[in-house]
Amino acid sequence: MLEDIDRILIDEETIRRELRRLAAELVKSFKGRDLLVVAVLKGSCVFASDLIRLLPLPLSLEFLAASSYGDGTESRGTVSLRFFSDDLRLAGRSILLVDDILDTGRTLKAVKDRLLEMGVDAVKTCVFLDKAARRAVDLQADFRCFEVEDVFVVGYGLDYAGRYRNLPYIASLRPEVYGGTSENPA
Ligand code: 5GP
Ligand code: MG
Repeated sequence: MLEDIDRILIDEETIRRELRRLAAELVKSFKGRDLLVVAVLKGSCVFASDLIRLLPLPLSLEFLAASSYGDGTESRGTVSLRFFSDDLRLAGRSILLVDDILDTGRTLKAVKDRLLEMGVDAVKTCVFLDKAARRAVDLQADFRCFEVEDVFVVGYGLDYAGRYRNLPYIASLRPEVYGGTSENPA
């Protein structure tokens, strides 16, 4: 597995440092609120787990899976959400929507819109990585850790074909791994 790595773009120490900075910012923003952290599966599992342990606030944690429908491989901006709690209470809560990476922004925008349709008052977005240059919809993350260049990255929860989520850093893969010369197989 490690021989598939091309370059480490963000190492563990840098991640730890940036998480502490982000956590301090979140504590300021959400102090005194009824905070519900909603993590988008599967990619944000590592980020969300590390992040909540740095937040000395009363909070609860919810996961959701988003599946987009429409034809083709590009998301059409409509998603159905699946939650994993029977007693989900969204109304009146401050929601922090956590995702691994903001790329075109279609997924997170659709999830956020869907939550607002469900009667949530306010949703703030928090992403680990931001490929700002690739944005196709009008959405900026309210909170983010790192901006990254437009290369396909893995690790720290992000996968390629289901693998590499367990790498403790963010890395690019050698082009041979995804069988081409393209830098972005997605
Ligand atoms: P968007 O709707 O913003 O275009 O897509 C966001 C999703 O695409 C992310 O949650 C992630 O699943 C996937 N994605 C986008 N860029 C990358 C990348 O560089 N690496 C990986 N592993 N997934 C990516
Ligand atoms: Mg994702």
